[in-house]
Amino acid sequence: MARVTCLPTVQIRIVTPALCRILQAVCDDMLFEHVITSIADGVHLHDSAHYRGEAVDIRTRDLALSDAAAFGDRMERALGPAFLVLLEKPGDTPYTSAQHLHVQLKSGQTWPPPPAA
Ligand SMILES: [Zn+2]
Repeated sequence: MARVTCLPTVQIRIVTPALCRILQAVCDDMLFEHVITSIADGVHLHDSAHYRGEAVDIRTRDLALSDAAAFGDRMERALGPAFLVLLEKPGDTPYTSAQHLHVQLKSGQTWPPPPAA
């Protein structure tokens, strides 16, 4: 299994099932060593899923753009349609300072999904 590390500034305030699912998907990705750059720490948009414990940022600035995009595709396949995977670049939000993969539970979704009626 690829090694996954966190920046020393990473904070977790609430461990949600969605957070566990995202972290498991990162750990399952075998092709690169990954660095988690933010969970609940840092400055994000005011209603960001980061503050709900439902989003993770993973460093991609050291990857070729094609490798970063392929990593995003693998995360989308692993997590399914309840999750949003965005390759963010500096300037995409007022707070985005380096290229990274932002992964979150989509707004309005619950994880685990409710049982089918
Ligand atoms: Zn993010």
